[in-house]
Amino acid sequence: MQLPPFAYHRPASLDEALARLSTAGDSVAALGGGTDLLINLKLRLERPRALVSVRDLPELAGVSLDASGTLRIGAGERLTDLAAHPLIVVPYPGLAQAIRAVGSQHVRNMATLGGNLCLPTRCWYTNQSENWRGSQLPCWKTDGQVCHVIKTAPNCRAIHSADSVPALISLGARVLLRSSQGERELLLADFYRDDGIENNVLAPGELITAVLVPPARVRSTFVKAAARTGLDYGYATLAGALTGSNRVPKSLLLVAGSVGTMPLVLQKPAQIILAEGLNEAGIEAAADAVRDDLGEVTNLFTPPGYKKRLMRGLVRRVLHELRRQKLPAAD
Ligand SMILES: Cc1cc2nc3c(=O)[nH]c(=O)nc-3n(C[C@H](O)[C@H](O)[C@H](O)COP(=O)(O)OP(=O)(O)OC[C@H]3O[C@@H](n4cnc5c(N)ncnc54)[C@H](O)[C@@H]3O)c2cc1C
Repeated sequence: MQLPPFAYHRPASLDEALARLSTAGDSVAALGGGTDLLINLKLRLERPRALVSVRDLPELAGVSLDASGTLRIGAGERLTDLAAHPLIVVPYPGLAQAIRAVGSQHVRNMATLGGNLCLPTRCWYTNQSENWRGSQLPCWKTDGQVCHVIKTAPNCRAIHSADSVPALISLGARVLLRSSQGERELLLADFYRDDGIENNVLAPGELITAVLVPPARVRSTFVKAAARTGLDYGYATLAGALTGSNRVPKSLLLVAGSVGTMPLVLQKPAQIILAEGLNEAGIEAAADAVRDDLGEVTNLFTPPGYKKRLMRGLVRRVLHELRRQKLPAAD
């Protein structure tokens, strides 16, 4: 499959990039590492006439701590560098594990954090060549009025499977967004929408410039179930972040990925652990409860029943791992 023709811009500053992105409407796209976007261009799933490279912009670079201990990660940072960064590996093991779970080493050498956060949803019906799609009926994502995978779906249910996202949401991360209109900051959890087509709130011409992660006074972990380790998207993923002790946990965020059009915060298992403590009985009860939280599982790559059993196992693994980890100094 060949790339279609497009204009390529490599601006020297964020202002220049935002100016380019704001003038060309829908026919321009930001280019991070290109590990997903260029494939989508080949599949003709996206048809921008111009790409604006953002990964080497100085304003999107750097990993640093501010005086309060908040971690700032530039959106242009490569995943390979982040997976080994001393400000991430020890204080945020869950985030480091999640970043290491993205694709292969080659993919992570190119891919940026901003690109991972903006990864479009995927579905086995649409993520095919234009020729293949041409021989099928259109679906919600390709200007049709129906989902061919989940016949009753009222909108596109393609799956969100960016691995860094559940880990960052479990840590309470925020994103900084910039456009030529100005800057805004929001919780990463509020960045996503329950729609397989428009699955985030990024406005046209807007970029993610950085991610802000609160001070690391948590235990955290991330697990991923995939067909092949080191290459494939997850069948399901789960990130967890805990404060307090095993006997008296103070807060617990469990965030599942690859189970729907957006990351899913698991409420019931977390409530059970907060009420009963992080002990064997609590872990078993929390794993049993995940079924209710998942509701109708609309994953398109595995049968729904399998996905629910898988999530039960992931809840157990995450909670056992959190229980095993040492308490951070601040607790
Ligand atoms: C073989 C293979 C396996 C993969 N496996 C995984 C996996 O297991 N887990 C996973 O999460 N991903 C996986 N991916 C997808 C992809 O490689 C990663 O999600 C990667 O992090 C995307 O980053 P990128 O910089 O290459 O994004 P790009 O491809 O450059 O861009 C992706 C999207 O983000 C937008 N974008 C980029 N930067 C910004 C920014 N700063 N602000 C706003 N929008 C921006 C682009 O316009 C585009 O819409 C895989 C890809 C391949 C080819």
